[in-house]
Amino acid sequence: MKALHARYPFLAAAREAVETAGVDLADLVASDEAVVERGLERVEWAITDGTVGEPHRRTRVELLSYPVARVLVSLVDQHVLLRRYARAEAATAYERFSEELDDRAAFQSTRTERLDLRDLLAEFDLAGSVHGSPEDDGGYRVDVGAYLEHAAGQWGDEWRLVNRSLADGQVPVDETELLLLVRQAVERRVKDGLPFAVPDEIATELEAETERISETLADLDLTRDIDTVVPDLFPPCMRHLLDKVQKGEHLEHHSRFAIAAFLTSIGMTTDEIVDIFQVNPGFGEEATRYQVDHIRGESSPTEYSAPACATMQSYGDCVNKDDICEDVINESHPLNYYEHRLDEADEDELVDWREDGDAEDEE
Ligand code: SF4
Repeated sequence: MKALHARYPFLAAAREAVETAGVDLADLVASDEAVVERGLERVEWAITDGTVGEPHRRTRVELLSYPVARVLVSLVDQHVLLRRYARAEAATAYERFSEELDDRAAFQSTRTERLDLRDLLAEFDLAGSVHGSPEDDGGYRVDVGAYLEHAAGQWGDEWRLVNRSLADGQVPVDETELLLLVRQAVERRVKDGLPFAVPDEIATELEAETERISETLADLDLTRDIDTVVPDLFPPCMRHLLDKVQKGEHLEHHSRFAIAAFLTSIGMTTDEIVDIFQVNPGFGEEATRYQVDHIRGESSPTEYSAPACATMQSYGDCVNKDDICEDVINESHPLNYYEHRLDEADEDELVDWREDGDAEDEE
């Protein structure tokens, strides 16, 4: 097993190496504590840090921890985990290949095998779609089809085709941008096939680890990286509360708290929440500002988070429950619902309310 495969376990060659070694997954999880521990670490770091942590010093452990991590993600089977895990594997790979390609000379002298940009592009069928820039400025040109495919998951207006120059069906990119496109390809590769059915024998062996990941997820502050406001994708309960606010209907204190906490959790500032509430004729700006600052922890010692589904249900605020509530998020948390919808949405649907104008446009 090669160090290169351990650094990039999603490569087709790494998978082949594991297959050739004839590793039996059931035996592995039953007998190799170091591999299981590192597999668990990969997933826990993905949830809490957005990377898969430091590599294990032994190549075999590091490489085999990847299929174990995939099994764990499949066993927990939560959309939010799958997404975070794939992102974290891609982020770690991106960091590694950026560093290797950036410091080609140093890596050439210290490692017998290193990643070559051409090989990396070939791995994701990009070799024929990426060309050196004719200006010889160190940049590249990517065929528009390949560009669109891999820019689709990138966040930021600079990736939109209308904001790029286009020459002969090719989009000029610099090396950093090219590697970010590859990062997207890695994320897709990691996501591919997840979650899969895990044999009972393996599931039983990994019960403690699965439980630990579920607990880490439950403790997670789901608010950290949403920061996107698309009311059409809100969960039905929050959409209902927001509609009531905007129609000027009276909201009980707990309902007002729920919608304000939810909006805070998805990254809205106090001013923006005051704005979105402002169409309400019975709106009291000062009271809203005070309540939102209170939720945010600015006028109180505690930062409150948006209520989970169980709390929403106990207050009668769980309204218009749909299939996503029941089948995808298992009535866990409105933020899980929203994160799922954002994840599934087309780029075109993701027009942030804050960039789009005002709240009336959403009606
Ligand atoms: S199940 Fe949860 S997300 Fe769905 S409507 Fe009820 S409270 Fe909202």
